[in-house]
Amino acid sequence: MKEYEKTGVLSIEDLRLPSEEQLKKGVAVIECVQNIPCNPCVDACPVKAISMRNINDIPVIDYDKCTGCGNCVAVCPGLAIFLVKTKDDTVFISIPYEFLPIPNVGDRVEMLDRRGEKKGKAEVVRVRRAGKTTIVTIKTEKRFAMVVRNIRVKDA
Ligand code: SF4
Ligand code: SF4
Repeated sequence: MKEYEKTGVLSIEDLRLPSEEQLKKGVAVIECVQNIPCNPCVDACPVKAISMRNINDIPVIDYDKCTGCGNCVAVCPGLAIFLVKTKDDTVFISIPYEFLPIPNVGDRVEMLDRRGEKKGKAEVVRVRRAGKTTIVTIKTEKRFAMVVRNIRVKDA
């Protein structure tokens, strides 16, 4: 049994990660590893970068095709897709967010890792409403690119 099956928390060893060059371009990182009947991410992708052999399969992304448009982030019911784009020593992480209050551009929010542990504060640089999901983009240090996957707005 894999560790995440016991803890419910993924580690980067469970994921197929993009290269440094692909991260510079900005790509979706899909953190969906369970065989569940779900596939809106596949249909939402305008460039067919996400594939699944059947609806119970795990989605596989072609990072070279991905344009970082964010469509898949907005439709994923599991909030399991993130956009990650690096620039020099900085990373922009776009996170699906369904809590209230929704942060505003310029706010400083608490960054959380996959376990919900605090990783310091980051600036919100973009807030995009997409149906019931809000996609919040934070700007932080590049070392957090594969670490931070949530935010806490209150108490930030
Ligand atoms: S970010 Fe856009 S291009 Fe990339 S996988 Fe998602 S929907 Fe496709
Ligand atoms: S939409 Fe989300 S939960 Fe559903 S298969 Fe795609 S990544 Fe997994």
